[in-house]
Amino acid sequence: MVKKIAVLPGDGIGQEIVAEAVKVIDCLKKDFGFNVETEEALVGGTAYDDCATPLPDSTLELCKASDSILLGAVGGYKWESLDIAVRPEKGLLGLRSGLELFANLRPAILYPQLADASTLKPEVVSGLDIMIVRELTGGIYFGQPRGIRTLDNGERQGYNTLVYSESEIDRIARVAFDIAGKRDGRLCSVDKANVLECTELWREVVTRAGEEYKNVELSHMYVDNAAMQLVRAPKQFDVMVTTNMFGDILSDCAAMLTGSIGMLPSASLNANSKGMYEPIHGSAPDIAGQNVANPLATILSVAMMLRYSLDEASMADQIEAAVQKVLDQGLRTQDIYSEGTKKVSTSDMGDAVVSVLQQQ
Ligand code: NAD
Repeated sequence: MVKKIAVLPGDGIGQEIVAEAVKVIDCLKKDFGFNVETEEALVGGTAYDDCATPLPDSTLELCKASDSILLGAVGGYKWESLDIAVRPEKGLLGLRSGLELFANLRPAILYPQLADASTLKPEVVSGLDIMIVRELTGGIYFGQPRGIRTLDNGERQGYNTLVYSESEIDRIARVAFDIAGKRDGRLCSVDKANVLECTELWREVVTRAGEEYKNVELSHMYVDNAAMQLVRAPKQFDVMVTTNMFGDILSDCAAMLTGSIGMLPSASLNANSKGMYEPIHGSAPDIAGQNVANPLATILSVAMMLRYSLDEASMADQIEAAVQKVLDQGLRTQDIYSEGTKKVSTSDMGDAVVSVLQQQ
């Protein structure tokens, strides 16, 4: 049956990097018999410019009707002064909540060819391969009540609510246990159970779910220690699972251990493994339109899509192998460039991946 991918380039470099990922999808269609159709739609600032909303109904409908979504990035200087309700980032949040994408998978992999790009010593990070599973549709980013209120004494007070129900914790825990079971079989749940009742419940529910996963060794860690351990000895981790906000912070930290924001893909999944796939970086307005952005994170997002949503693991392997090969050939966009390698443009990098794929 033909699969459908909604393609949302978004803003800034999103336009350039998604074009390269689409070249890869087209190559899979032509040379690998991938039965797929793609349809493009607007999201973010470009959608606001056209339709006065960062998430037009037609985009959400297309995403609902598709098997998977490929997203570039949203945001940019141009839209920073807009009311928060219509800022580009609201488009992303609307997609996550509208499609119930509650599980965010963020791998942090250090490619051996890029070991020099990390700010940490090579022996600390070489061979690094962590998967962070972040809860994406609950917790303090969505909890009510929230706002800024004025107290009786005239002082203003900001407030947000950290809230998780047992079912929300249980479903993200199970995603993480399943992934750990297919990897090295170790899951570390990160919380702040010594201070926050909400994450005391988190720990209890994750432990209870773990009783059904005898093949996975479960440990718990407080978030402050987890942040320290990630930079001290990151290779101790296999899979980490945590709340929305802790995951937001820890996954950026883990990504930077690899030194290459332009290399890391991500997946956001719902209960039926339908997913939105995107690079972890933003729209990089500082380099947009210059054909210098690294498209590999977006291309690797296509590989994740094939593996986690479209049941095409062998094509995912092919894409990942092709990325390794172009790195072996010494091709580098400017963000991962070092002396002795060859600096290439966004489109050259996409063409190189396609060319390797065609030879595989
Ligand atoms: P950013 O990730 O866009 O950029 C951070 C730095 O990394 C910049 O110097 C940029 O040039 C560089 N960079 C990022 N991706 C790159 C790539 N593929 N190749 C080469 N270099 C790359 O983060 P920011 O500057 O904090 O945010 C810019 C905009 O993106 C903001 O509007 C922000 O809200 C938005 N944003 C969107 C997403 C998303 O769409 N998922 C995520 C983060 C930030």
